[in-house]
Amino acid sequence: MSAGLVQAAYIVAALFFIMSLAGLSKQETAKSGNYYGIAGMAIALIATIFAPDTSGFGWIIVAMVIGASIGIYYAKKVEMTQMPELVAILHSFVGMAAVLVGFNSYLDSPEVATHAEHVIHLVEIFLGVFIGAVTFTGSIVAFGKLRGVISSSPLNIPHKHKWNLAAVVVSALLLIYFVQVDGSAFALLIMTLIAFVFGYHLVASIGGADMPVVVSMLNSYSGWAAAAAGFMLANDLLIVTGALVGSSGAILSYIMCKAMNRSFISVIAGGFGQEIVISEGDEQGEHRETFAEDVAELLKNSKSVIITPGYGMAVAQAQYPVYEITEKLRALGVEVRFGIHPVAGRLPGHMNVLLAEAKVPYEIVLEMDEINDDFTETDTVLVIGANDTVNPAALEDPNSPIAGMPVLEVWHAKNVIVFKRSMNTGYAGVQNPLFFKENTQMLFGDAKESVDSIAKFL
Ligand code: NDP
Repeated sequence: MSAGLVQAAYIVAALFFIMSLAGLSKQETAKSGNYYGIAGMAIALIATIFAPDTSGFGWIIVAMVIGASIGIYYAKKVEMTQMPELVAILHSFVGMAAVLVGFNSYLDSPEVATHAEHVIHLVEIFLGVFIGAVTFTGSIVAFGKLRGVISSSPLNIPHKHKWNLAAVVVSALLLIYFVQVDGSAFALLIMTLIAFVFGYHLVASIGGADMPVVVSMLNSYSGWAAAAAGFMLANDLLIVTGALVGSSGAILSYIMCKAMNRSFISVIAGGFGQEIVISEGDEQGEHRETFAEDVAELLKNSKSVIITPGYGMAVAQAQYPVYEITEKLRALGVEVRFGIHPVAGRLPGHMNVLLAEAKVPYEIVLEMDEINDDFTETDTVLVIGANDTVNPAALEDPNSPIAGMPVLEVWHAKNVIVFKRSMNTGYAGVQNPLFFKENTQMLFGDAKESVDSIAKFL
């Protein structure tokens, strides 16, 4: 393949990636967005493998077969609820790739024409390795927290912000030295170690409730790491793709920060996690219990119903019976809608995907901001496996770890039914005063079994 053809293929691939991002921004077009992404990546791979300056064809094929087998295995095996973990670990691969490309580029520097170009190349290597190393350890910690192998409480070492600042300042000084001495392996190695620790500390300092933002922030970092690798390898497509991932991840982080009422800057600084008091089972009064038959009766007598799903619905895979009761109630003339919190579940859009999978019509699935004022006029709210996202403490208790986070204000409805298995806390580890309100009743049990029983009584 000629160099000109490779460049043309790269432009087409980049356009496919842009169309993919545009498609993924709406549920209706998300599937085609995925196909555009696959097409773009296929073109990019073919063009890169057959580019005139590519060598080691056999090695590339071996690496691709191994990588693709692992990818296909995990894509088939992974549950929707484990997606954030998978995404986090994939980000760590991108980070490590940038570190390795950086070291390779250092050891095997290409011939450059001018001194200025040489300096730029050294800066590219240094920054690429720095961003890659931060992304690598940060993503591993995020993976550990999401999987539950590392505590979701924030690490609070004394003077943590000063340590972070020191890591950045020392790395900047090492960069100056690295350029001045025309590339020092010692400076590069020390900075890599600092960046590994810095990435670990940035994410370890963040509490469980703020993990959604961390995952999308690491997504952005992995994009910048890929772009840095693109500069080092002088590969235009990698630069464009990395920049697309980096900026879309940054925009998503910004949107999520707004949704959770967090400061974007403090997220980037990795310091907004607070001491989370795990208050599992911390009772706040009496709760009332109800049963499937009574809930079915209540629903039949309601004119308007809002369902607010959360992580528990995903765990129980209750979306299919939820669709069934939705259809039954709509057939009885009851208005049924869904209220989706931006961080419900374990990744943005998690609930929308599950409901779409179960064929719930898009037009009755509303975002939090679109539905929050309607709870006052609603007869019954079904909170199915949601907890933090419907916790009034976010608005009422300034000391709560989720203080300031906007929530679905379900307690304004006439009746609230909470589907869960116990009085345990949600992901953020805080008790929920909603469970003890006068208009709330608890329906204990696995969400799928509970909804199935209600469907039988309807
Ligand atoms: P939560 O994690 O707050 O609550 C889920 C509830 O579901 C639990 O209280 C649990 O109670 C219940 N549950 C679990 N399994 C079942 C089951 N089989 N049947 C019935 N109930 C079940 O979920 P939310 O969706 O309300 O909130 C999401 C939380 O996750 C937020 O804190 C958010 O910040 C965080 N997060 C979100 C991410 C995102 O990008 N969206 C990423 C990472 C974290 P019990 O054990 O008693 O059954």
